[in-house]
Amino acid sequence: MNLQRSRNHAPINQRNTSGDNEMKQLAIATTTSTSLVDIGTNLTNKRFRSDRRAMLGRAFRAGVERIVATGVSVQGSRDACDLASELAAERARRASQGSLTPDLPAVSFTAGIHPHHGAECGPSALATLRELHASPLCVAVGECGLDYNRNFSSPKAQRAAFAAQLALAAELGKPVFLHEREAHADFVSILKDHRPSLVGGVVHCFTSDRAALDSYLELDLHIGITGWIADERRGQHLIELVRLIPTDRLMIETDAPYILPRNMPTKAQPKDKRNEAAFLPYVLSAVAAARGESETDAARHTTETARALLGLE
Ligand SMILES: [Zn+2]
Repeated sequence: MNLQRSRNHAPINQRNTSGDNEMKQLAIATTTSTSLVDIGTNLTNKRFRSDRRAMLGRAFRAGVERIVATGVSVQGSRDACDLASELAAERARRASQGSLTPDLPAVSFTAGIHPHHGAECGPSALATLRELHASPLCVAVGECGLDYNRNFSSPKAQRAAFAAQLALAAELGKPVFLHEREAHADFVSILKDHRPSLVGGVVHCFTSDRAALDSYLELDLHIGITGWIADERRGQHLIELVRLIPTDRLMIETDAPYILPRNMPTKAQPKDKRNEAAFLPYVLSAVAAARGESETDAARHTTETARALLGLE
């Protein structure tokens, strides 16, 4: 299926619109009929510092019922925990004041150490992660994995950090939120050793090829798809591959502030190209079109799958 079709296939929240301005308003201001889960937003990223609360409101109005804030370092995981706890308290306060519906998504978080920060994964870092995982809002260990693209931490340190976090996930009985870039052979080899003791995991922001996809599905892992699928320059291959992912293994994510979906109408795109959770319906739209499904069906099964893997309500 060519990308043009998915580009012309308006997301649920943009139907029956006319004109780009109106479309822009509706894209961020209308609730979809089916709730979505963004399994990966870098909510504590500094690019959200000035308008995080407003951004969460936009996500909620765009139909995103839950966001999982990604923890990428010890400090980042602590920040994600603080933010998720604060927002949970705010939602509870609103509910106790008789507000029938909250106006922001539920926020969970992951606690882990991204391979870029692999060198920091010593005993005290692991002890802190263990503490953060005591929070009921902490749904997965990660993001963790291997990234040999720029080697901000040495490959050796990355492998040690990855193995340590897989062991932690096994000990805690929690799924893993996985990141892999240019390190497929080592990544799979380490995962294979630990897979029997893991409850499950998701390879987030999958952008790789058929062989990699097959190897992840063979390991009974879940797959996270971002707006990369809507990138006509480098994501076309995902249009075919996303059809091969079983319904109960597929989830969607923005990976915001990165990877602004390129199927957004140009005029609706923010000038600074910052992605945010409110744009998740564009990922949904591209995934649904590629799979030949209705957006409602794709929304329903990706949400169910995210709830099941991450133990969400
Ligand atoms: Zn990642």
